[in-house]
Amino acid sequence: MSLPNWRIGRALGIPIHVHASWFAVFFFVTWSVATGYLPETLPGLSAPRYWGMGGITALLLFLSVLLHELGHSYVALRYQIPISRITLFIFGGMAHMGKEPPSPRAEFLIAIAGPLVSLILGAGCLGGAMAVESLFAGSGIQGLVVLGSLLGMVNVQLGLFNLIPGFPLDGGRVLRAGLWAWNKDFNRATSQAALVGIGFGVALGLIGAVLMVGAWSGALGDSLATNGGWLIFLGAFIFSAALKSRRQAALQTSLASVTVRQVMVHRVVTLLPDMSVQDAVDQYFVTHGFGGFPVCEEGQVLGVVTVRDVQALPTALWPWRRVREVMRPASPAFCIPPDWSVMQAMERMVQSGWDRLLVMENEEIVGLVTRSAVAHFLQLHRASNVRRER
Ligand SMILES: [Zn+2]
Repeated sequence: MSLPNWRIGRALGIPIHVHASWFAVFFFVTWSVATGYLPETLPGLSAPRYWGMGGITALLLFLSVLLHELGHSYVALRYQIPISRITLFIFGGMAHMGKEPPSPRAEFLIAIAGPLVSLILGAGCLGGAMAVESLFAGSGIQGLVVLGSLLGMVNVQLGLFNLIPGFPLDGGRVLRAGLWAWNKDFNRATSQAALVGIGFGVALGLIGAVLMVGAWSGALGDSLATNGGWLIFLGAFIFSAALKSRRQAALQTSLASVTVRQVMVHRVVTLLPDMSVQDAVDQYFVTHGFGGFPVCEEGQVLGVVTVRDVQALPTALWPWRRVREVMRPASPAFCIPPDWSVMQAMERMVQSGWDRLLVMENEEIVGLVTRSAVAHFLQLHRASNVRRER
């Protein structure tokens, strides 16, 4: 999704963005309604009327998808889950939630809220269209009835499609909530629900391929080729999103079961704050080859100095500046205990912006954990897993 997106407003305090790919949907809906659906169901109108009504349908569809996402968001906000934005893009909408739901119950309610909004909207539109038709039959508002029932059907489809139990679709989240409640393991539940998602993505792709081949060979109508292409596209999207979630769940599982003690460097070299930058470079950075060093004095951790801090200083000043002046002062967030999981350490690194953390036990430095050490550990870990599977 490297195409641009634009912020168009706010709802429930959440910024609403439209991704460039949404315009493909807008055009496609307008075009297919104006040239296919309307001329068939409502013959005898002028082309500009058809295109105008097509455009209105596309806008209302946009609003329907937005309301679906706001349904999820409303419940998520009630659980204090921050939502950075809602993006509308080619496959619908997405509410970007700041963290995972706190419980299976929260997950279930957040997931079900979107399809519920769509189904209620759909039923409302269909009911409204039927009521208008029976009350004002033949009074020239047939257009309203046609649009109402079209929108109703689309919303019902939106609700039902999203209930398919393959993660990351809403139904997959409902499934994950159930599995999570059942086996008490969030990552395992994600992994299992994502596996269904992968299967569903493959199935959609296969159905799409059958439709395309059928249309090309003449066994099926030509119009089904477009539907087939769309299904392949959608299947690929669901497949890759599910695969990504499954990998992430596996990664989180391994990160949660490994402690900081297992990945930390035991031999920690520290610098004195009043040493010159030149000496630090000559005697430490060059000889040890580390990317950064904690700065300590009399058992107190004062800060960290990294290659980047040194590089920011002109070389000519190296003999004249002390380490104390270029280091980044340490905050309490910089020190962690050795029995933390690597997952917790990684979260701390992300939150605090440090790429290395000092491991302290009984007020003593016992090790150092860096982002790259974690990455290396995981690579080895994965390699040994692969070997075990074979
Ligand atoms: Zn949804």
